Amino acid sequence: MTLRDKTTVTFYNGLTTIGGPMIEVAYNDSHVLFDLGEVYRPELGLSMDDEDYQTLIKYQLIGEVPDFYDEKITGKAIDTKRWKHSAAYISHLHLDHSKALNLLSPTIPLYAGPITAHLLPALNEKGDFLLPAAGHEKGYTRPIIAAEYKKPIKVGEITMEIWPSDHDAYGATGLIVKTPDKKISFTGDIRLHGYHPDWVHEFLAASKGADLFITEATGSSWPERKNEKQSEEFTGINNEDELTQEVVRLQKANPKRQITFNTYPTNVERLLRIISDSPRKVVLHAKRAHLLHKSLGKEFPYYYLPEEPKFADLNPEPEVSYQDLLNDDHEFLWQAVAYFDQLMEGGLYIHSNAEPLGDFDPAYKPFVENFAKHNVEYKALRCSGHADEGELQEIISEVQPAILVPVHTLHPELVENPYGKRILPKRGQSITL
Ligand SMILES: [Zn+2]
Repeated sequence: MTLRDKTTVTFYNGLTTIGGPMIEVAYNDSHVLFDLGEVYRPELGLSMDDEDYQTLIKYQLIGEVPDFYDEKITGKAIDTKRWKHSAAYISHLHLDHSKALNLLSPTIPLYAGPITAHLLPALNEKGDFLLPAAGHEKGYTRPIIAAEYKKPIKVGEITMEIWPSDHDAYGATGLIVKTPDKKISFTGDIRLHGYHPDWVHEFLAASKGADLFITEATGSSWPERKNEKQSEEFTGINNEDELTQEVVRLQKANPKRQITFNTYPTNVERLLRIISDSPRKVVLHAKRAHLLHKSLGKEFPYYYLPEEPKFADLNPEPEVSYQDLLNDDHEFLWQAVAYFDQLMEGGLYIHSNAEPLGDFDPAYKPFVENFAKHNVEYKALRCSGHADEGELQEIISEVQPAILVPVHTLHPELVENPYGKRILPKRGQSITL
């Protein structure tokens, strides 16, 4: 009797924590790995310099994945006799899905959606975004292949298809992996209340009937917060459209008041909507304007803080002086990133999922309190990048998988699969389909 080749899936990291999923699909002599992030644990107080390979493994910030990482980093050679075809994929550019991509062996191709592939090198220009690659200068980003959406990528007997999806990271994608006899779908991070629910539904339709559906389930993490809508943190915003509308409403309701804001750098789409919909002229900090120019070729009004070095690629013409912004109470909506005590008293600052992100970061509370001290109103306008529990059920019902594996959540056991089995793998566990 000959043993037929089987599809094996190994779950290396990111199972009962929010972020850092690392999963391998293997068939015969071919295998693929997704994603390549680092679990975010600010409470450890590690700086990028502390994060050598041993430390990352010790704190389970990355998975101990054999035969993918650079030999120069692990000290262990890749078994090229066993594996003839290898590739990796990252779903989107959030650090818990991308920060470790430079650890991937330079001999293994890395794929991502085109926006992710173009933005990451620009974000990592100073070497302060991704973990460093062995034998390269700071600021190096290993090659990322910008995949064509939905077009099969052959990795030996495995194919990967990268589908546009929706999340609060610009250009987020989902993945469908096919082996000769099985179909596996991985959501990356996903939601139905963003700008492109239509893309999400298409990806889910293509995933329908998957033998294995691996979904992020961040939304099941806080069963005790079911009544979020009554809590004081809830800002009344249910989706990205409502968020932009609220930014516009605040400008119209405050015709003579300084208004500043900040957003997260990788949520480019939210920023583009704020720029296009705002009645005021939106002025970005030069670093953000440079990121958008370098990665997307888009130019916007910008300013420099005092004594900041200039970016050679930014045209001088749309520059606005910092002093003009500090004195303004009607013309501009500008991105405040530092020296918050220089803001005009009585002004309004909109914090839209910018850093510090929230209560779990020790920097958050003092940051918020500082505004009150200077008599500037602090307003948090949040919109989650993740499906809530109801959306999760809808997502699973559109796929109706034979096996469901919820990952990227504090409580995978709360996510059910009414259409088949549900498996809750342990860290490092393999399952054979
Ligand atoms: Zn994400």
